[in-house]
Formats: sequence, structure tokens, C-alpha cells
Amino acid sequence: MRSWRRPPETAPTRQVVAAALTLLVLGAVGAVQAGLAGGSFMFDLEQIEPALARVPPSIQDPGTPRLARRVFLVVIDGLRLDRSYELAFLDELRRRGVDSEASSHYPTWSRPNYVSILTGVPPRASGVRTNHHSTPVQLDSLMDRARAAGLHVATATDYDVLPRLFLRRRGTTAPPTPLELDAEVDNPHDLDSLEQPAAQPGVRSPDADLASPFDDARYAPWPGGFSEAGSALAAGGADLVVLLVGAVDAAGHARGGDSPEYREAAAVADRAVARVLAHVDLAQDAVIVTADHGHTGRGGHGGVEPEVLAVPLIAAGAGIRPGASAQDAQLIDLAPTVSALLALPAPGHGLGRTLVELLALDDAARAHRIAADQLRLAATRAVVDAAEASAAADVLAHRAERIALVAGGALLAGALALLLIRRRVLRLDRRVLLVSIPAFFVVYYGLLATLGQRFSPSLLPAQGNLAGQMVRYGLISMLFQLVASLWALRNQPTLGERLAAANGIAWTGLMSTMVVAGLFWAFFPPPYVDLPGPLWLVLIPAALVAVACAAINVALTLALEVIIFAARAWMRVPPPLDP
Ligand SMILES: [Zn+2]
Repeated sequence: MRSWRRPPETAPTRQVVAAALTLLVLGAVGAVQAGLAGGSFMFDLEQIEPALARVPPSIQDPGTPRLARRVFLVVIDGLRLDRSYELAFLDELRRRGVDSEASSHYPTWSRPNYVSILTGVPPRASGVRTNHHSTPVQLDSLMDRARAAGLHVATATDYDVLPRLFLRRRGTTAPPTPLELDAEVDNPHDLDSLEQPAAQPGVRSPDADLASPFDDARYAPWPGGFSEAGSALAAGGADLVVLLVGAVDAAGHARGGDSPEYREAAAVADRAVARVLAHVDLAQDAVIVTADHGHTGRGGHGGVEPEVLAVPLIAAGAGIRPGASAQDAQLIDLAPTVSALLALPAPGHGLGRTLVELLALDDAARAHRIAADQLRLAATRAVVDAAEASAAADVLAHRAERIALVAGGALLAGALALLLIRRRVLRLDRRVLLVSIPAFFVVYYGLLATLGQRFSPSLLPAQGNLAGQMVRYGLISMLFQLVASLWALRNQPTLGERLAAANGIAWTGLMSTMVVAGLFWAFFPPPYVDLPGPLWLVLIPAALVAVACAAINVALTLALEVIIFAARAWMRVPPPLDP
């Protein structure tokens, strides 16, 4: 009697299930691929050997007199400009010397800007773009210039990373050879394990061929140990002492730059630095205090927000002109300025200038420094410009191919979908798609824009990998989409149609995310010689994570549907009657 009402899906049942399983496999492959690309995105930003490292440093000795017997370069990690005021010791230094500000460099993360400060090369050109950089920096540094001149260099920190970041061939100021670097790459030092301070003081080079760039490097837990280690260095004889305080940044990440805890950490750091420098004789020695970056109000840095870019630049003591102010100072200007205080040539890969307006140089000496800077800058800028131009040309030359590849893939997938629609194994049900597909995007990008802080690399209050937080947002969004899909599918008249509609969700979800990720890849392919801007630094990994999440979601939806389908078919549940 009812045979004529046999559900229309009986014929293509196997094909519907086969299509579902195929999409499932495709989704799994897409998820793995996109997940891997998203996971490696931060590492793809890094350059082990940037263009500048492939040319010899441009060492220009202007032969100016030494202005300070010793220089103390203090970097208070994450101390933003506005919060650096009303700190007793820093304000005292300001009164006796220079009260100025400097601009950090994008991406405003720590390791990239330790390198900006110590080499005069910003992240764009240094190749050190994130905190994941794990090979020794190949660029000429302040430590190299000082040691080449026979001076002694020391460091004390509660954050043990500088000595390893600048490992040198034992007994030289030369960076590791390509062979040694290969060994480093194969067996990188686990710099990230050092995010948590190690238990024992002192820094050992783990590799016999490579040595610390500091004659004396002391790691000491915050805060008591730091004061002790720093005071010991201050009482010693090193010509250049680099002090790095990590505790303020930690408070910023934990509580935000607007929090009382952050202010308190800044005050504690101020007192610790005051203790370390208590006996420094400013008549003979110079002190420079700065930060690698600031913090957003909610905590976080990496982007180009004013509160993240602006850092204090305080200088006082021998060789510093009291009351002077720096003009458009950047962190890359510190290495040449410290060099001038110690009568050293500026580090030879640097892209910054000597802040001569702060220095007690006579007119002739000032002119010599400026001339030396110009010679160096002509050489280094030419190298960077050539590398960026050639990389840009390279990207442009293959862009059309990549766009064609993405468009071709999309067309192929579209043709396949048409074929499947004709065979009734895939349905693009408008109502279903309107509910289930936007669910992921709305929740995901909504979370990024609100829980994250705008679309900026500063979006993470917590330290860590951008992609890690995105995956968390992605998982939440996936859950929403899964529920929305199941809800939207519940009213499908027959089991076969339900599965065909689920196939439609799967196909659309995969396509919409993959085409976006494909276009991003077409326009911004790795390796990133030219650094993507702050918006892209967020959107590229976000799009990859979206593909991975959409694909996993597809797999989950379809797996559920296949189970429901199989269970009902097995139980021979009669299909509902058409109205
Ligand atoms: Zn930092």
C-alpha cells in the first residue's frame, strides 16, 4: 500500500553515506593541515639568518671620547610610560638627567625588542619577531662591540634569556657558523622552558662550542636575589652592565596594566633597581632606564597600541646632558647611544641613530658620531631595502598562481557539489545553512574581538602562542555550531534528507573557511620576510584555526549523523509520513 511512498532517499542511501564519509575524511585532512599551519604560524615569522646577518657589520669608529666610565642599561620588561612616573628612584634619575620617552617596535613582544635594544635592529629586519625565536641572534650587538674593544660586559636578570639569545662562538664575538647554527636548529635550546625561572643561579652555555656573550651573567630569582646579584655586579668592574627585570611584565600579564598589582610590581622594581644602583657614582658613570614594551589596560602587548608602544627613556650621569630631551627616540637608538657613552663604534648592523641630543659631546665629536651613523645607516638600510624589495617581488611574482590555485580548487569543489546535489546526496537547505554556518563565524570572531582586545597581537592578556588562545575560542564556537546544526537538522522530513542536509553543512563549512584561508595564503605566503601588519598577524592564524575548527565540526556533525542514520536504519524506523 505504502510502497509508492517509499522515501525518495532509498536509492541514493549508500551514496549519501559515502559522500558523508568522504567529506568526513576531507574534513579531517583539512583540520590537520590547517592546524599544523596555524600552529607553525608564529615560528614561520622567525628568520634564523636575516639579510643583515649575511653581510659583515658596518663598523664605523668616529673616534669620539669616552663619556662614562661605566654604563648601566636597565630594561624593566613591560613597564609602560605612564606607569613609570611616580616611582621614586626613576623620578630622581629624571630630575638629575633626562626625562624622555622612546617608541618600541612592532611586534611589541619581549625577545624581539631585547634585540632592538641590544643590536639596534628592529624585529622587521632582525628576524626575531616573536618570543619563539630559539636560535642565537646573528647580528652585531652592544656586547660584541664592548668585548671587541676589550671592555667587560655583565648582566643580571630575574628572566634568564639574554645570554642564550646572543650565544657566540667560544672566545670570539662572532656569531655561530652556519654549521653550528644547523646544530642549534636541530637541537634548539629550550628557551621557552625559561619562562619559568630556573632554580639555580648562573647561566651555562649548554653547547661546548658556544659561549655566553657576557663575561659575567647572573640569573637571580625576583626580587631579593636580583638585588643581590645586581649589587654584586654594580660593585664589580664591568664597563657595561645590562639589568633586565621581568617581574613587572609578569604582573601586567596576570592583572593588566591598569591594575594596582601592576603599579605595585613597578614600585617593587623601582626599589630593587634603586638598591642595585645605590652606590653608582653618577659623576663618573651613566644609567639608562627603559622598557621593551608597555602593556594594555587588560594586560597584553604585541600590537601597536599607544600604551604598548610608548616606553620610558630615562638617562642620567656622566656623559648625559641634564634636561635634554630625545627627539622621536626609538629603542633601536639605544645601542648606538650606549656605544657613544663608552667610545665604542655602534653595533654594525644597526638601523638606529645615536641620540646625540642627550650626550655631552662637543660640536666636533657630535658631528663625527652623526657622520659615522650616516655611513652605517647607508649600508644597513640598503641591505634591508634590497631584501624586502626582492621578497616583495617574489611574493608578487607567484601571487597570480596562488590565487588561480585557490580559485581552481573552489571551482572544482563547486562542480563536485553540483554533481552531488543532482544525485540528491548533498542538499543546500537555505534555512539550515543560515542557522548553522554563521554560528561558528559569529561566535568565533565575536570572541576574538571582545574577549581579545580588538584584532591586535596584544589580544592575549596571558603570555603565549596566539594560536593557542584562538583554538580555545574556536572550540567554544564549534560547540555552538554543533548545537545549531543539530537544532537546524531536526525538522528534516526523512533520514536521508537529514543526512544530505548535513552533507550540505559540511561542504559549506569547509568551503567557506578554506577559501578564506587560501586567499590569505595567496596574499601573505610564508616565509614572512616582510612582516604582516598587526591585523594580519591576528587574522592569518585566526583563519587557519577557523578551518581546523570548521573541519573538526564537520567531522563531528557528520559522525553523529551517520550514527543516527545507521542506528535508525538498523532499527528499521519507518520514515515519517509526508504531510
Ligand atoms: Zn617584555
